[in-house]
Amino acid sequence: MAELNLILMGPPGAGKGTQAERLVDDFDLPYYATGDILRAAISEGTELGKRAGPIVAAGELVPDELMCDVIMERIDTPEAEDGFILDGFPRTVRQAEVLDDALDRRGRSLTVAILIEAPTDEIIRRLSGRRICVENQHVYHVEFDPPKVDGICDQDGSRLVQRDDDKPETIRRRLAVYREQTEPLIERYEEQGILRRFDGSRSPEEVHSHIRATLATLALEAEI
Ligand code: AMP
Repeated sequence: MAELNLILMGPPGAGKGTQAERLVDDFDLPYYATGDILRAAISEGTELGKRAGPIVAAGELVPDELMCDVIMERIDTPEAEDGFILDGFPRTVRQAEVLDDALDRRGRSLTVAILIEAPTDEIIRRLSGRRICVENQHVYHVEFDPPKVDGICDQDGSRLVQRDDDKPETIRRRLAVYREQTEPLIERYEEQGILRRFDGSRSPEEVHSHIRATLATLALEAEI
């Protein structure tokens, strides 16, 4: 395969970030997670952060034009020449159209849309116990993946906090927004023949090895 342009889809809490970390290690590709980019902008108080802050806190979606700009400027950098991993984008039909058109104009296209699915009760359990470190957004879970020292990140020693939007009322809203605005994209990528589904209720190791096997098959097919 000439380039690997990959998007990770699925409801919040399905394990997209966890898989992305592994895929970044596997393929040495740049990773752009719009949620991480927005949280960094909010904590730095940039113009983008000021606009996005209240929207993210409410579990709603930031306007499409803003998000498209954020992603396009990254896709056009030299580091993304051989491919990229997008997490949390596209999240609406409009964003998907803008991405497809922009890639098309550059003679590029998406290689695969990885959809990680998980049942709602499992998602709620994962999100409500999730904690992230304030420094680098490393992710833990109070029950399933606790840090060695309570409340402290193993990797950089910074404080662990709960994301504002991981509170129960906001989790419900984010799930509803996903069903209304993001789920329609599944059909789009199915029609394009690039959708691959994975069972996010399996262990992170299992999901990872399934994704790797799928990508290996795609690479073989591309060579034939
Ligand atoms: P995430 O970390 O992917 O769950 O994203 C956290 C929040 O950031 C979402 O609930 C939205 O408010 C906002 N956000 C992230 N990505 C997008 C996007 N592509 N379009 C609109 N809003 C987004």
